[in-house]
Amino acid sequence: NLDVSFKLGEGGLLRQSQGTIHALSDINFGLEKGQTVGLIGESGSGKSTLGRAILHLVRPTAGSVHFDGTDLTSLAERQMRPFRQQMQMVFQDPFDSMNARMTVGQIIMEPLLLQRLGTTRSRRERAAMLLERMGLDRLAMNRYPGQYSGGQRQRIAIARALTTQPQLLVLDEPTSGLDVSMQARILNLLQDLQREMGLSYVFISHDLGAVSYLAQNIVVLYLGRIVEIAPTARLVNSPAHPYTASLLDALPPMVRQAETPHLPPPTGEPPSPVNPPSGCAFHTRCPQAEPICAAERPALRAVADGQQVACHFPLVSVNGTPSYAAP
Ligand code: SF4
Ligand code: MG
Repeated sequence: NLDVSFKLGEGGLLRQSQGTIHALSDINFGLEKGQTVGLIGESGSGKSTLGRAILHLVRPTAGSVHFDGTDLTSLAERQMRPFRQQMQMVFQDPFDSMNARMTVGQIIMEPLLLQRLGTTRSRRERAAMLLERMGLDRLAMNRYPGQYSGGQRQRIAIARALTTQPQLLVLDEPTSGLDVSMQARILNLLQDLQREMGLSYVFISHDLGAVSYLAQNIVVLYLGRIVEIAPTARLVNSPAHPYTASLLDALPPMVRQAETPHLPPPTGEPPSPVNPPSGCAFHTRCPQAEPICAAERPALRAVADGQQVACHFPLVSVNGTPSYAAP
């Protein structure tokens, strides 16, 4: 039941405006150890905020985040420290999150230094070992991030996230901005590392193709709410929410089956989260909207095993069979 809201006017955010942005409302999902959950949605859907809230970098307004049986939201920052070590984030643009004047070695060792883990020697050894595992030379230790390509910097960022031997990684758009072959190599590397180290991933992306490659389950967010959650194969082959069906349109044909219902991609920008549309927030862009959609917000409900949808007219009926009719 996680909620995150920001008061307008706080922290320089739209100082002139009044009111509250409900960045996330009623978020519920789980992630098993060693598995991947995908968070997908357009920019402004709240997926990065959710990633940060899971890591306790953003405080929830209500609800809680549990890690391995512990309610993180009940902990003081000092008590959070052992958990910080177990959960790391890989950011969207690794170059923006790297200090260009630090060597690659310093960048990778920084989490260990911040958490006062290991000796100078053991930190260097771990960083060099991780660099090699990422397919980079040990000589990179003394070089600068500016000397590396986007794909190599993403490997450096992953090495940095792994130094503290975390159990959970939040990957925020880890392959965005890379060319297709580099994207595939990073996805394969992430998959291998997950198997080797038993890692759990929260994989945030606007690219359903990349997410469906790694994730067992996918959460679809629209304006800060879950509109659909389902096992990946189910979501890709029998989407229940019209928004999910519109995201499938961008999938390569080998991922999406020919007979899968899909709708044209949503037109225009998503509405502002400051004044979200009434009822179902997707009604302003939904090709199937009926009058009830603007009046009543549909609750998230189960339609098939593991598949939940928030829509008055889902594309699958309650036993999970497709009920799609082309408009
Ligand atoms: Fe479209 Fe209505 Fe379903 Fe919302 S509730 S997705 S507007 S059909
Ligand atoms: Mg983002």
